[in-house]
Amino acid sequence: METAVVWFRDDLRVTDNPTLRDAVGDADEVVPVSVVDPRNRGETRYGTEKCGPHRARFRRESLLDLRASLRERGGELFVRRGRPESVVAEVADSVDADAVYAQTKPATEEFQREYGVRDALPDGVAFERRWTHTLYHVTDLPTPYDRIDDTFTPWRKEVEDGTEVRDPVAAPETVPTPDLDPGEVPTLSALGIDQPPSDDRAVLPFEGGESAGKRRVQQYIWEGDHLREYKQTRNGMLGADYSSKFSAWLAAGCLSPRWLHAEITRYEDERVANEDTYWLVFELLWRDFFQFQFCKHGGDFFAPTGIRDVTKRWDRDREAFERWARGETGVPFVDANMRELNHTGYMSNRGRQNVASFLADALGVDWRWGAAYFEERLVDYDVASNWGNWAYQAGVGNDSRDNHFNVLSQADRYDSGADYVTTWLPELEGLPPTYAHRPWRMDAEEQTEYGVELGSDYPRPMIDIEARYAELGG
Ligand SMILES: Cc1cc2nc3c(=O)[nH]c(=O)nc-3n(C[C@H](O)[C@H](O)[C@H](O)COP(=O)(O)OP(=O)(O)OC[C@H]3O[C@@H](n4cnc5c(N)ncnc54)[C@H](O)[C@@H]3O)c2cc1C
Repeated sequence: METAVVWFRDDLRVTDNPTLRDAVGDADEVVPVSVVDPRNRGETRYGTEKCGPHRARFRRESLLDLRASLRERGGELFVRRGRPESVVAEVADSVDADAVYAQTKPATEEFQREYGVRDALPDGVAFERRWTHTLYHVTDLPTPYDRIDDTFTPWRKEVEDGTEVRDPVAAPETVPTPDLDPGEVPTLSALGIDQPPSDDRAVLPFEGGESAGKRRVQQYIWEGDHLREYKQTRNGMLGADYSSKFSAWLAAGCLSPRWLHAEITRYEDERVANEDTYWLVFELLWRDFFQFQFCKHGGDFFAPTGIRDVTKRWDRDREAFERWARGETGVPFVDANMRELNHTGYMSNRGRQNVASFLADALGVDWRWGAAYFEERLVDYDVASNWGNWAYQAGVGNDSRDNHFNVLSQADRYDSGADYVTTWLPELEGLPPTYAHRPWRMDAEEQTEYGVELGSDYPRPMIDIEARYAELGG
């Protein structure tokens, strides 16, 4: 084969990228292209933005890093703007390509674009898709994805017993590309997106790109030696190292889960293998689970009734939703987490479960609004992980149990000294932890004593949350 186009999607890396590796192996010359699609920005049907500043910045940095890696290999990343359905076909036509290689992703819009590209290709141009974003390859699943169990544990046991993680593939040493206009990686302002604010309290700066992702792995697993205690620390909420923070690099495909798995195995061989080291693999299996669930259920994940057709009456109270989104509910554990998300693009898993439960269970607001808000704000947004976890939490997804969280007891348990809450709500500093988590219990005298006036320094609670949990039971 003479020429192959490589259409980069959520696989912004050169290591363990079978799409790139196969194209380079099969063709004399490749044309790596990234298409900046205007449909990835703008307003959603829920009134939120598709992509907020933190993720936009991360994606831009990831493209710049990919370009640098390809240049180190003698090649180039060609950046074009427009709809991939037209742009990829135009590029293929202009270089007289024999084939287009691309990552395949299981979600609705991603599939539509993929088929759109395939259908628009000039006659005789082959479309080669590669499955590259999960730990297990889709064709290695013991049960085909359309018949897998909808419950995590039986699915996990089946894959752990019945299949193997494939070895990662090396980055190509050289990437021969033709002499074309490279095109600009657009700045955020060119995309009409504000520069995200920087905040010293952020758990990490989350610099985009494979190089920064690998540095994070080096720092977390090898230098910091944190993997040996991952399971014990992963419910933390403050600081860089209570969990891996690999999610943003995994979501953009700057890191491959298989490559991470190989690093975990190497750590287990060279340092220690224990329940904590296994637990990171266990979490990567949760990630896989939602990816395969998306293959199975597709667009049902976006329906209010979810994948199990659960009929619940969802409230469409815009003001309540906006108070939640701004972190002004008057329930500090919820507000602190939402403010962390708004300031930094990240929130811990513990936080995500709690704020999701507060919106869907305590307020009864349409869970899809919350999912769409996370889509806007998260630096690590991934369609399957986000909508799958939201549906799960709202009781319409992969769990039929009532799994609502009592955010007050969660706050007592995971933030007993109120350090997390006061980091993000400095106006509550100086309150004893029990009041920092329940400021509404302060009488007027205590409010004066501690210098926190409810309704002025910090909002009064939007609902009687203690009564609500008594009603929900627990
Ligand atoms: C409502 C809600 C929405 C979420 N939205 C996203 C999202 O858009 N993108 C995203 O990557 N994760 C999402 N998660 C899952 C999880 O919260 C994050 O992956 C995790 O907090 C990221 O931090 P970490 O990399 O330090 O995780 P670690 O604890 O270090 O876990 C390692 C990796 O395992 C994967 N993982 C861990 N937990 C989950 C999970 N529950 N579901 C899927 N994958 C998991 C992630 O890739 C993560 O990077 C969501 C969870 C909830 C409850």
